[in-house]
Amino acid sequence: MIVTVKGIVLKSIQYGDFDKLCTILTEEGKFFFKARGIRSLTNKNAAGCQSFVYSEFILEQRAEKYYLRKAQPLYTTLKAGSDIQTIALASYFAELCEDTALDAETGKITLKLLMNALYLLAKADRPLDLIKGVFELRLLAAGGLSPLLEECALCGKPYDAEPHLYVRLLDGDFVCRNCLSSRDQNIMKLSRRAAEIVRRSVSVSEKDAYAIRVAPEILQEFSRFCERFLLAQLDRGYQTLDFYKEVKKLPEN
Ligand SMILES: [Zn+2]
Repeated sequence: MIVTVKGIVLKSIQYGDFDKLCTILTEEGKFFFKARGIRSLTNKNAAGCQSFVYSEFILEQRAEKYYLRKAQPLYTTLKAGSDIQTIALASYFAELCEDTALDAETGKITLKLLMNALYLLAKADRPLDLIKGVFELRLLAAGGLSPLLEECALCGKPYDAEPHLYVRLLDGDFVCRNCLSSRDQNIMKLSRRAAEIVRRSVSVSEKDAYAIRVAPEILQEFSRFCERFLLAQLDRGYQTLDFYKEVKKLPEN
């Protein structure tokens, strides 16, 4: 059977001398296929199987397995010359998508989120950590894991009644200062101003969520929160995130 899908490579592993094993994200969910001969210099499908390129893939299905027939590049998001931080962040986004796109429904939402985030990374006109935080939150929201920052989970006090919220990272909600207990673990203190950015990131349109201007110290707090919240909610680490954090420490040339 032949399947034609449009999507983007999330991961590719070298296999044998000339082949690759690729995972792609499409509107129909993820596909895993073998691309024979893709690493030979004359292979016509190599451009369509590169990272961060949106392509049309023609796959042949045989005995539950897929093999690449053709990959036609349609749209390149990040250019080869993009800086290392941007590439590292895009790789982290791809790994997150690989982890969270579980079926056709989540695949479709995740692909749209990824394409928009890659478009903004390529445009390079706003802070990377804003794109990162909004992407992390909206990806979680797509899986029903938005932080619940309306009111204190215990007494119902509204989020804007005090200067700080004590977010329970595993429960995904917050308690106020009065309700905070010494037994609470995995708490992150979040200023009301940063909490407002978090709330806004998942309540407005995707375009508006990325369009906000934030003071540097609030952006830093927002970014730190989004990452900790995501890692707590998904309960795992990401090698690509560690790499992004390493390259951020490098001096700019
Ligand atoms: Zn309370």
